[in-house]
Amino acid sequence: MIKSNYPSVLLIYTGGTIGMIENPETGALEAFNFDQLQENVPELKRFNYRIASYQFTPPIDSSDMEPSLWAKLVKIIHYNYDNFDGFVILHGTDTMAYTASALSFMLENLNKPVILTGSQLPIGVLRTDGKENLITSIEIAAAKYPNGQAIVPEVCIFFENLLLRGNRTTKINAENFNAFRSFNYPALATVGIHIKYNYDKIRKADSHLPMHPHYVFNPNVIILTIFPGIQETIVKNILQSPNLKAVVLKTYGSGNAPQKPWFIQLLKEATQKGIIIVNISQCPTGMVEMRRYETGLHLLDAGVISGYDATVESVLTKLMFLLGHDLTPKEIRREMNRSIAGEITLPEL
Ligand code: ASP
Repeated sequence: MIKSNYPSVLLIYTGGTIGMIENPETGALEAFNFDQLQENVPELKRFNYRIASYQFTPPIDSSDMEPSLWAKLVKIIHYNYDNFDGFVILHGTDTMAYTASALSFMLENLNKPVILTGSQLPIGVLRTDGKENLITSIEIAAAKYPNGQAIVPEVCIFFENLLLRGNRTTKINAENFNAFRSFNYPALATVGIHIKYNYDKIRKADSHLPMHPHYVFNPNVIILTIFPGIQETIVKNILQSPNLKAVVLKTYGSGNAPQKPWFIQLLKEATQKGIIIVNISQCPTGMVEMRRYETGLHLLDAGVISGYDATVESVLTKLMFLLGHDLTPKEIRREMNRSIAGEITLPEL
């Protein structure tokens, strides 16, 4: 057997429920060794694939995920890039959408699949959703056209029956197996008896360009959700924090916010200092249109820019990524107005 002719996938186990086991004394879920994961999924051996694995030691709950670990993931993928057809990252569901978004910006010119998956029930539990998620993710990570090009050269999340673009995805359910949604972009594949790819919606990779990894982030950003009764002193303290570089402003509906003069003035002072403020909606579906209502126009006047139909996870990580590259506020504003990795839908002009 010539092993190198077989599809090859690198499994990267970061932690999360999928690789957890119940402590018989406390009942709490604790991480176990990755070797046990393979023991619990003997089906992996039946794949006619070369499957190698790498595990974070210790495995982490994804609540502890952070930019240095995103950089570690990029390093692992970059180091192994030429040796595998695709990559599957096993990750806790809580911050999976942040990691998927971050990786989509960090892996420039990606032309192989990077599929994140996890589970709601540990893989050792009888009714686990982890086995199917893992097995289908591996199949998608290895899927190629007859000419050898990957079918899904993107960072994606696969969960339950949906393959979703990573930077369009949000966790929406803490209990159900069907825990992720992409509200503003169609699924890249739906999985039932067959894996049905939505070919037109999958990003086209340029296989001539080498994959270019990025590692830098500046996490001096904040998410500010507005609500009726929001207080001036609190907003002021946030916007005047010494190291603040960017704000994801979660507004109402199509991008509307209170018109109170103190609020608009604080935003204006912040943008004039070079702080980037990006407007996204608290509604998961739809697009920010700041010219639609007067309340949105006030934000535009204050120097706030549109986040279009982006998820909070993608705007936050894109800002951290751009700030990490030491771009000027003008350059960052320009980059926020274009799609780097399919993360926003730009309105037709
Ligand atoms: N708390 C876990 C995590 O995100 C939940 C999960 O794995 O789904 O790591």
